[in-house]
Amino acid sequence: MKIKKRVYVGLLGGSLLFLISAILLLWYLMVNHNIVLSQVILIALTIIVAGLFVVFGTGIIAIIIMIFKSKSIPSLEILTKTVSDILFPITLMVGRFLGVQKEKILSSYIEVNNFLVMAKKLVLPGEQIMILAPHCLQNADCPFKITINIENCRECGKCKIGELKKLAREYNAVLKVATGGTLARKFIKEVKPKGIIAIACERDLVSGIQDTGSLPVVGILNNRPFGPCYNTDVDLELVKNALIAFKKGG
Ligand code: SF4
Repeated sequence: MKIKKRVYVGLLGGSLLFLISAILLLWYLMVNHNIVLSQVILIALTIIVAGLFVVFGTGIIAIIIMIFKSKSIPSLEILTKTVSDILFPITLMVGRFLGVQKEKILSSYIEVNNFLVMAKKLVLPGEQIMILAPHCLQNADCPFKITINIENCRECGKCKIGELKKLAREYNAVLKVATGGTLARKFIKEVKPKGIIAIACERDLVSGIQDTGSLPVVGILNNRPFGPCYNTDVDLELVKNALIAFKKGG
């Protein structure tokens, strides 16, 4: 077993041990609730659970209010983002339990995220906006290496990269094409954008949105007429609307 696997399997085993210990401790405290120490620990646990409930409750209510009013609450932005990210795996689990398709939940998460980003009503100059496109948008037969330099695209019309290049030029935004998360992170480091318009599939968009932390990311789903990761497509109107929204403030 390689070291990397050992670390993860070890952590899994540790988590299982922690869970079993917590359940045993709770059981012990409930059975021996007359002992003073048990009462103190039970009260402390109740306070922690109540505190978490208040924090998560506030976060969820803030998200609902922001969506309802179409307006961000700046002081609660970090809390809403954190609560949304922490609860995300739980929502997936609940969704699976209720028979809701995973892709539907991911799309919905992206929609909520886009709404919250737009509610911030940011006004950004073009050079601070980065359009991040996936490599699979490029025509598979195109011989030009556009991930290194987008200027290598000849705008021949065989795929949407050329059109995206024109859009980026029109709005003075930065267009980058990434083959994956590592290259995307490298581009973010280099360009230091204040807003990102990311094009990808549901899974990549969600992990990208969560990876970038407080950086506002508007996610646009690609179309996959030939299946995943091959000659994909994008609705340019959606990209244009996101560019306008970032430049004019929502
Ligand atoms: S538009 Fe650009 S990237 Fe797409 S096929 Fe033509 S040259 Fe290649």
